[in-house]
Amino acid sequence: MIFIRALLIASLLCLAPLDATAAERLFVKAKVIAADPLSPTVKRIRFKLPKKYALRPAQFALVRVPSEFLQSWNARYGTSHKDLERPYSFASDPKRLPAAEFLVQLASPPPGKDVPPGVASTYMHGLKPGDTLEVGEAMGNLYEADSGTRPIVLVAGGTGVAPFVGLLEHWFRTKLNRRREILLFFGARERRELLLDAQFTRWAATQRNFKYVPALSNPAPDDKWTGATGFINTIVDRHFQTNINADVLMAGSPRMMQETLKVVTAKGVPAKQIHQDPIKVAP
Ligand SMILES: Cc1cc2nc3c(=O)[nH]c(=O)nc-3n(C[C@H](O)[C@H](O)[C@H](O)COP(=O)(O)OP(=O)(O)OC[C@H]3O[C@@H](n4cnc5c(N)ncnc54)[C@H](O)[C@@H]3O)c2cc1C
Repeated sequence: MIFIRALLIASLLCLAPLDATAAERLFVKAKVIAADPLSPTVKRIRFKLPKKYALRPAQFALVRVPSEFLQSWNARYGTSHKDLERPYSFASDPKRLPAAEFLVQLASPPPGKDVPPGVASTYMHGLKPGDTLEVGEAMGNLYEADSGTRPIVLVAGGTGVAPFVGLLEHWFRTKLNRRREILLFFGARERRELLLDAQFTRWAATQRNFKYVPALSNPAPDDKWTGATGFINTIVDRHFQTNINADVLMAGSPRMMQETLKVVTAKGVPAKQIHQDPIKVAP
């Protein structure tokens, strides 16, 4: 009995440092190169990863918020956060490694609620060139959708467009659009939130078989918007008169994804042709 207990303690002592090392290995240190505003609430964070970081197009990774930031956050807002990690999608083609990008929306308090803003997004919006960012291993398999032959329909809301920026860049580079049609439906509230609109418009003009359908749900009066108006799921619904024969990839708020899922399912897209990242990722 004593022997078994001793063996157990010994094995635990051996395992503890091994586990810690394994957990530490999951995160790497990246160096922030630039942090540029793309809209009043979204920043593009460009950073440099270590040389051997493994990344496929449209993957995401956990970002770890440093404990010093959490301590001052807890002191300021009376919260008790520790070990906080949040997923963010890579908005860049892996071909650009070691450079990579995230598009980060600052999570504001819900209207009428006296609560703190989002912790991780506030931290990310405070990053400056030269800062260190802790990034976990890349996860997700949206890129697998490029193995078929059907047209591809991308549906994005807000920063949900992030994985598709890198994916499109990758697809155009590898000439996937020579053999498959690609349609990007991108929804925002008003024009200034239509991230990277100029880049998508340019791609639509220069890349074969690529169509871009931007839509605003609540255009501002001075937007002078003449494009599609409404939530992006309704735009997808109106666009296709008949059944959709395509692979569908979607990314955005849980609500937007639920509504889009209803539309594409009603238009005959089988579940195996619908691709999305998990809505929640456990750290
Ligand atoms: C696979 C995946 C990929 C993602 N990719 C991206 C991406 O590319 N870009 C991006 O911007 N986001 C992305 N996200 C979302 C991201 O992971 C975070 O969820 C987001 O940034 C908010 O995190 P936060 O820590 O800033 O907010 P949190 O601190 O979690 O707060 C969330 C909201 O709750 C409010 N809140 C705070 N306290 C309370 C309270 N007591 N009661 C009620 N409300 C409260 C906050 O004001 C805020 O609005 C992704 C998510 C997933 C699952």
